[in-house]
Amino acid sequence: MSAQPKPVVAAAPFLPFTRPTIDEATIAGVCDVLRSGWITSGPNVKEFEKQLSAYCGGRPVRAFNSGTCTMEIALRIAQVGASAADEVITTPLTWVSTSNIVLDVGAKPVFADIDPVTRNIDLDRVEAAITPNTRAIIPVDLTGLPVDRTRLYEIAGRKSLRVVEDAAQSFGSNWGGAPIGSTGDFVSFSFHANKNITTIEGGCLVMNDEHEARLAEEYRLQGVVRSGLDGMEVERVGGKYNLTDVAARVGLGQLPHLASFTERRRGLARRYLERFHAAFVAEIDCRLPVADFAQSNWHMFQVILPEAHLAKRGMKRADVMAALNDRGIGTGVHYPALHLFALYRRLGWKDGDFPHAEYAGRNTLTLPLFPTMTDADVDRVVEALESVLRGA
Ligand SMILES: *Cc1c(COP(=O)(O)O)cnc(C)c1O
Repeated sequence: MSAQPKPVVAAAPFLPFTRPTIDEATIAGVCDVLRSGWITSGPNVKEFEKQLSAYCGGRPVRAFNSGTCTMEIALRIAQVGASAADEVITTPLTWVSTSNIVLDVGAKPVFADIDPVTRNIDLDRVEAAITPNTRAIIPVDLTGLPVDRTRLYEIAGRKSLRVVEDAAQSFGSNWGGAPIGSTGDFVSFSFHANKNITTIEGGCLVMNDEHEARLAEEYRLQGVVRSGLDGMEVERVGGKYNLTDVAARVGLGQLPHLASFTERRRGLARRYLERFHAAFVAEIDCRLPVADFAQSNWHMFQVILPEAHLAKRGMKRADVMAALNDRGIGTGVHYPALHLFALYRRLGWKDGDFPHAEYAGRNTLTLPLFPTMTDADVDRVVEALESVLRGA
């Protein structure tokens, strides 16, 4: 057999579903920090917190080494979990850390199903889930699309509940023009590598006053309180959650780009919505995301591909992902409904408890979206997805 001829046209480079954008000045800045002799928490963390606070309308902000720990610490500050009967209402369609931290502090997660259109927690169901044991609500702005803050705080205020906004995905989003983080109760952001602004790993917590901020500092590092040049006291158990100066320097290099990143993401999302053919959308019954270009930061672009329609073509979601991968396109799944994970099943949840979240969890596909993508990349993704589903 003769050898196959080599293809003359190079394949298009692999398009991941997301990719951080780190400029050269930031990389140089990180090198400066590494050479400075002070690489863990120090002046860069302080400056990062100062700039985050300015963005959040002057509210107290502290930086941490993950978004997850900021939510756990918010619950500890609010003393949620002090009684094992304490309940916290949240969504079953989120990254699992949102409810894991409720278990971590010794409280009980209570799930309220999602609104199938926004895929965010349904606030009518939140209201219905409130009991005398409810202490807090953790709403999640999935894909950066904000939960209705007006209604949320009306409910929380009327029922005297704390709110920990899981805004891991909505840094740069706003509610009625007010940046997420500038209003409300606790607001938690993540700066994980995949988020709109990154510190590689990291996060921050926006609080209400300096007393909460001092408690957050204690929970951040072993409960330690320093005084004078040589004083040290420990009154509570804290963790090891401090951000490094190297990571904070990455964050400082990201913040100036927030507005342009958000603008570019909105532009790419708009193009996605324009490029899908109406006939294809109707044929597959493909559900496209809510077209919010004013408030959402478009952390992700997701489509729902109904399993019944895929089955008619002899396909499952994983087959679509594999076919797109073969065409050089990365996709993701965000997220399976978390109450169906083994840990949560053992605690009593089961199939059918939250049908909207389960349906979204099984049928949602995350397509590539990040600021350095080109318009042609969007076109390529849409063409590939349409051709894969039409069996072309
Ligand atoms: C990323 C994310 C988190 C956790 O953030 P980490 O920084 O990875 O700990 C929590 N909730 C949601 C919705 C997220 O997307």
